[in-house]
Amino acid sequence: SSDRVFNFAAGPATLPENVLRKAQSELYNWRGSGMSVMEMSHRGKEFLSIIQKAESDLRTLLEISSEYSVLFLQGGATTQFAAVPLNICKNDDAVDYIVTGSWSDKAFKEGQKYCKPNVIWSGKSEKYTKIPSFDDLKQNPEARFLHICANETIHGVEFKNYPTPNNKNGILIADMSSNFCSKPVDVSKFGLIYAGAQKNVGPSGVTVVIVRNDLIGNAQDLTPVMLDYKIHAENNSLYNTPPCYGIYMCGLVFEDLLEQGGLVEVEKKNKKKAEILYNAIDESNGFFKCPVEKSVRSLMNVPFTLEKSELEGDFIKEAAKENMVQLKGHRSVGGMRASIYNAMPLAGVEKLVAFMKDFQAKHA
Ligand code: PMP
Repeated sequence: SSDRVFNFAAGPATLPENVLRKAQSELYNWRGSGMSVMEMSHRGKEFLSIIQKAESDLRTLLEISSEYSVLFLQGGATTQFAAVPLNICKNDDAVDYIVTGSWSDKAFKEGQKYCKPNVIWSGKSEKYTKIPSFDDLKQNPEARFLHICANETIHGVEFKNYPTPNNKNGILIADMSSNFCSKPVDVSKFGLIYAGAQKNVGPSGVTVVIVRNDLIGNAQDLTPVMLDYKIHAENNSLYNTPPCYGIYMCGLVFEDLLEQGGLVEVEKKNKKKAEILYNAIDESNGFFKCPVEKSVRSLMNVPFTLEKSELEGDFIKEAAKENMVQLKGHRSVGGMRASIYNAMPLAGVEKLVAFMKDFQAKHA
């Protein structure tokens, strides 16, 4: 509606308008309970129904089998950078990381404290604009797992398919924070998937972990209880007080995604939005540029620069005047970045593209 801006932020990010309105209508008195979800006991039957429905809808969306546990945790994806090695390997185990941008680099660096990680491919020398060809990967057959970041939020590179882990346990682990639930994913290819909620599925404060059951229960001795998947799995994510309101919001988003027809339909919409934005960049005769190799451009985060880089400040300011906000690129890469998650309507991307054309006409 007209009192809302188009918010291109990378996260926390825009949420579906109908989800916000539903939350608003239920805020004061959730379904006749006489209280808001924020005030409920996490062990009461009302909240149990909320968390169970959220889990079951997520399982439907991603077709998650009973071989996997779904956990709603806290601490953000950053906490998982430590929790993953703490739970999945011993501290002297070798582990392979593919580093395609800042986030997989951070995961690797945190991993150094809890295992013996090795970077088997890095895109750093090419400014993180590529995904490696899987044939060229030199995986360590002794590695305990292979870790990837499925979508690099800052650099805008996205895996379009996934490497087969060639290690002794065949475990592939992915940080899907910024493309979680943006398209169908074959969960059975992964040992573990984790994602901070605040891009595609809810407010910050909830971290979703999907982990194969046989990988649970071998945490390193020093693992804090809050990071031990076994504790959380045995307690259905209710070992301590969970982020109740955030989980409720994620549940509303999952419901909304199902109502849209599920992730096949959601992916179609995301592809269409990304296509018109990348086309606008590529057809600008170099006025706008996206540095990322075409075949691995992210459907979620679109980084671009202006040939006349001195105009970037004006671009961002003028866009904001037209209610398109948060278009500044990450401080580490500069330029612009449009995050176009599930909840960004097509109309938002169309408005941005029209603005880009006008801006070019004025300044070319
Ligand atoms: N991984 C990716 C891909 C991210 O985009 C982010 C957040 N921008 C993180 C990890 C860190 O997430 P959090 O802030 O939830 O710890």
